[in-house]
Amino acid sequence: MKQLYFDNAATTMLHPDALAAMMPYLTDQFGNPSGVYEHARTARKAVEEARARIAEAINAKPEEIVFTGSGTEADNWAIKGAAQARGLKHIITSAIEHHAVLHSCQYLEKHGFDVTYLPVDKEGFIRPEAVEEALRPDTALVTIMLANNEMGAIQPLAAIGEITRRRGVWLHTDAVQAVGHIPVDVQAMQVDMLSLSAHKFYGPKGVGALYVRGGVGLKPFIHGGAQEDKRRAGTENVAGIVGAGTAIAVTSGEIPTESVRLTSLRDKLIDSIEKNIPLAHLNGPRKNRLPGNVSFSFDFVENGSLLHLLDMEACCASGGSACSSGSPEPSHVLTALGVPVERAHGTLRLSMGRHTTEADVDAVLALLPPMVGQLRAKSPLYGDYLEGDLHD
Ligand code: PLP
Repeated sequence: MKQLYFDNAATTMLHPDALAAMMPYLTDQFGNPSGVYEHARTARKAVEEARARIAEAINAKPEEIVFTGSGTEADNWAIKGAAQARGLKHIITSAIEHHAVLHSCQYLEKHGFDVTYLPVDKEGFIRPEAVEEALRPDTALVTIMLANNEMGAIQPLAAIGEITRRRGVWLHTDAVQAVGHIPVDVQAMQVDMLSLSAHKFYGPKGVGALYVRGGVGLKPFIHGGAQEDKRRAGTENVAGIVGAGTAIAVTSGEIPTESVRLTSLRDKLIDSIEKNIPLAHLNGPRKNRLPGNVSFSFDFVENGSLLHLLDMEACCASGGSACSSGSPEPSHVLTALGVPVERAHGTLRLSMGRHTTEADVDAVLALLPPMVGQLRAKSPLYGDYLEGDLHD
């Protein structure tokens, strides 16, 4: 049975070119880049080449890229670091951020900071004017994600950046779901910090980076050695960083064609689900949406059961985000969109990537209607609904 992998938002398959580029640094080229001999210089050079490739992909300078151990670490550093550096007590974020951002903000709240959580409209967008309205004289940071991991909405970061730059407030964006999938330009967006993560763009897991604009005085978060120009201590994950550099170079080049191809597969999925499955509600927008993201909530369906049925057909999908699957609480993102709790429990996210073919999409489209029908047939609430009890 062919695997139908529809969970690229959770993680992506390592690109073969990235693996090939990594192999020497996992074997004979094992030098520590901090060493002073040729063997070490080879590793150092490879790290710097990867840094330049990441910088180029987001229109930054190489010295503005600091490697971290994950996107989560980059988010934590940007938020807690800005809070500490600025000596100001207010932070603005949104209700739909990833937990790496939300939990960092909640941590700061416990330590005397005030956080404003901006709402989103029913499609999942933050209004730039709402950011401006929320700014206070003591605002240290605005942190708004570029693209949402659950329902794909791409936020108007350039409009937000215009406001924060004019008002002299730092702006961080969690671009973990965006980098490698849509064009990302730190100059055009006027962001001061940006988080990314290699395993979301066909690089290895455990490698992230934080872009810190030159002149932004962010203090180190992890203390120890002098690595990363004294900004992030810890011996570099050389092979992982090399893999990240190769993966970003390959995927950035593919964005123009892949985004068009995936947008068409995405729209086919959306149109077909809407046509063939009654009581299916699209979460997130139709436009300004990540090319590979589809999220639906099905009334009278428990997503755990649907995911199980899909799994039996070798189809990998998710109920929302990978981090919250298994949790009985409805996702905070769907709650922010105003999705009722019962409906949120019937949410399915299908996230596509460079390996997804039209045949895969057709296969999942053939599986879904009978599965949803099968689960509804067992639902007493659906029975009541059909009998009209819930019509009034
Ligand atoms: N931010 C967003 C939007 C994400 O989707 C993820 C991962 O799911 C992260 C941050 C965390 O990245 P990492 O898995 O590298 O810690």
